[in-house]
Amino acid sequence: ALIVRHRMRCSGRWARAMAILREFEEKCATPIGKLRQVADAMTVEMHAGLASEGGSKLKMLISYVDNLPTGNERGLFYALDLGGTNFRVLRVQLGGKDGRVVNQEFAEVSIPPHLMTGGSEELFDYIAAELAKFVKTEGEDFHLSPGRQRELGFTFSFPVRQLSITSGTLIKWTKGFSIEDVVGQDVVLELTKALEKQGLDMRVAALVNDTIGTLAGGRYLNNDVIAAVILGTGTNAAYVECANAIPKWHGLLPKSGEMVINMEWGNFRSSHLPITEYDHALDVESLNPGEQIFEKIISGMYLGDIVRRVLLSMAEEAAFFGDTVPPQLKVPFILRTPDMSAMHHDTSPDLKVVGNKLKDILGIPNTSLKTRKAVVELCNIVATRGARLSAAGILGILKKLGRDVVKEGEKQRTVLAMDGGLYEHYTEFRVCLESTLKELLGEEVSANVSVEHSNDGSGIGAALLAASHSQYLEVEDS
Ligand code: BGC
Ligand code: MG
Repeated sequence: ALIVRHRMRCSGRWARAMAILREFEEKCATPIGKLRQVADAMTVEMHAGLASEGGSKLKMLISYVDNLPTGNERGLFYALDLGGTNFRVLRVQLGGKDGRVVNQEFAEVSIPPHLMTGGSEELFDYIAAELAKFVKTEGEDFHLSPGRQRELGFTFSFPVRQLSITSGTLIKWTKGFSIEDVVGQDVVLELTKALEKQGLDMRVAALVNDTIGTLAGGRYLNNDVIAAVILGTGTNAAYVECANAIPKWHGLLPKSGEMVINMEWGNFRSSHLPITEYDHALDVESLNPGEQIFEKIISGMYLGDIVRRVLLSMAEEAAFFGDTVPPQLKVPFILRTPDMSAMHHDTSPDLKVVGNKLKDILGIPNTSLKTRKAVVELCNIVATRGARLSAAGILGILKKLGRDVVKEGEKQRTVLAMDGGLYEHYTEFRVCLESTLKELLGEEVSANVSVEHSNDGSGIGAALLAASHSQYLEVEDS
């Protein structure tokens, strides 16, 4: 109420614009007490999602991965990573304990935007064709054992209800994808049909989420990795759960006693989350209204657009950019998170990068230093909220596992494998996330917890899981 009154009294444009900014800042606040509430809510929802199907907004999906890579994996395997704006194909030659990754090659292809909202066949045909092209370039550094079929780890970074390690139906699309006829379908079947059309003799040996791939890739390099977090176009986490802590699992208890869970934390929501009118509007106008609320205030697909929305309101209600509202400012997603990040990291004295971005992207020339500073501040508010909430989510996982405290006489290390463009390229975001996690855990616990960048671990991870689920495994073991 105080802020509203303040806003009315101010008549100057600048003051009005700043009032909008301050009000937004206040609503985005993430004091440590709030973060703890968010973490507690995350832990509660994890329990609920594990207890029963549909028991929570957190789907806590069973991955059918009950063994993570050991280092013994051998042979030539392919992986296909689909889920962001690009997809990647990759092949690796695994050499077992001593050789490890003997050779690897990959290719990255951007997905034509119209395929993200078109039809199922078009998307899978396109992917299969690119994979077929890639397989043709397989050189002498790679060896497929005689008589064997090529095998593929398929990383599909959307919520999938797995029926086994090699099959699963799409629950819903997220991020920029919306292809109605795939929802409810087995994505392995769709891909396999497309591979056959290409005349490509290849079997999907493992269907995994990118978080699962990242966890597997991280574990291959470091035995203490127990969870993976993706902060990219979308966001999500996976972790290793005790199989008997999953009441909704009615299958056989795996020998390892463990099961990897894909949380789908992007769909988390809680009354403790700091949500503003801008987030609400973004959600309502999105491809998936009411869904992925945590993702929409954290991940790379959305952060830039939140900034744009606040700027638009400052322009409309306080003539922040002059008498007319810059038309470009009304275009959804025109301000991308990488551009926001570039502005946020601008260290030049006159904030030249900010000036150029405002001019080139939004068509706003000749901004004053004062204006540019306000824009940087806005980027900081949006990134800080996302980073601190991600840290709270991680605390929620550690709490669920009892790893948020130091146990008497135990020197247990906890490593989190992280990946995604936001984490990798948005330094302020990453630094804020890591310092917030330290702040939440305290010094003593923090000393045993580390965060590691698993660079493109999800591709290698999927190939590793294809190897450990190879159809030729039994033959080899005997
Ligand atoms: C998807 C997850 C995925 C995450 C990161 C989310 O939108 O629902 O399955 O792991 O993005 O790619
Ligand atoms: Mg990377």
